[in-house]
Amino acid sequence: MTSPTDLRVAVIGAGPAGIYASDLLAKQGVNIDLFEQMPAPFGLIRYGVAPDHPRIKGIIASLHRVLDTPTIRLLGNIHIGEDITIAQLHEYYDAVLLATGAVADRDLDIPGENLNGSYGAADFVGFYDGNPRFHRTWNLTATHIAIIGVGNVALDISRILAKTANELHTTEIPDNVYQTLKTNQATHIHIFGRRGPAQAKFTPLELKELDHSPSINVVVDPEDIDYDEASIAARRASKSQDLVCQTLEQYAMR
Ligand SMILES: Cc1cc2nc3c(=O)[nH]c(=O)nc-3n(C[C@H](O)[C@H](O)[C@H](O)COP(=O)(O)OP(=O)(O)OC[C@H]3O[C@@H](n4cnc5c(N)ncnc54)[C@H](O)[C@@H]3O)c2cc1C
Repeated sequence: MTSPTDLRVAVIGAGPAGIYASDLLAKQGVNIDLFEQMPAPFGLIRYGVAPDHPRIKGIIASLHRVLDTPTIRLLGNIHIGEDITIAQLHEYYDAVLLATGAVADRDLDIPGENLNGSYGAADFVGFYDGNPRFHRTWNLTATHIAIIGVGNVALDISRILAKTANELHTTEIPDNVYQTLKTNQATHIHIFGRRGPAQAKFTPLELKELDHSPSINVVVDPEDIDYDEASIAARRASKSQDLVCQTLEQYAMR
């Protein structure tokens, strides 16, 4: 144990980065005030990670233990920049640490992006994860859905839309989400990537898991399995990317 210091630090953002940083500082004897704009902590672990990924959500238990540290004080419902400025914080603290994450969608800057029926992923994720800043209901009558981008958030959204509401009922989804998902009519979900399998940003485990639900049939067009020289090099350079390519090939083969 290190001895307490007189240092006071304001940490902004109670996601994993802010909480682990507070933990490290507290272990050096520093007193922490941890400011969070939401009424509850844990950032995107709580409001981003999909509800059918309980193992990842389980990180909340270890984050919670850190928040029990007597020298870390959590102050929720305070939006730094609106309720208090950074300049004001500097008057009272020896240092200010920003750990505000990336909570909002980035514009794609393409024509039609703002047409009706087009949404950023954060809106839909915020809905199914029960984030109070987002709409509590969604019109889920669309049967054919296009998802732009080939990363794990695309897989999360595809899974949530392709699974039945009852499959998700065993997770921690709030009742309003369950009731809304019961009205979901999606039958075809297309995921668009601008490059090939060797550049896809999926992680191997999440891509394989997509096929585990009885209500999901993953279809990959064999014509999309195509590797130029750069793709072959990218595959060779990364075991994980190679596994992603192998999984996509298996989906294409059947
Ligand atoms: C849809 C989605 C799914 C994901 N799924 C996974 C997964 O399955 N596995 C995995 O390992 N990772 C996953 N991630 C990534 C993971 O959630 C992030 O890497 C991690 O949460 C980042 O931690 P952070 O502390 O930097 O930011 P965040 O978790 O975003 O925390 C930042 C915190 O700062 C607060 N904040 C922001 N601005 C202010 C302000 N002005 N004043 C006060 N507070 C503020 C926010 O409310 C938030 O609580 C996912 C991310 C998303 C978006």
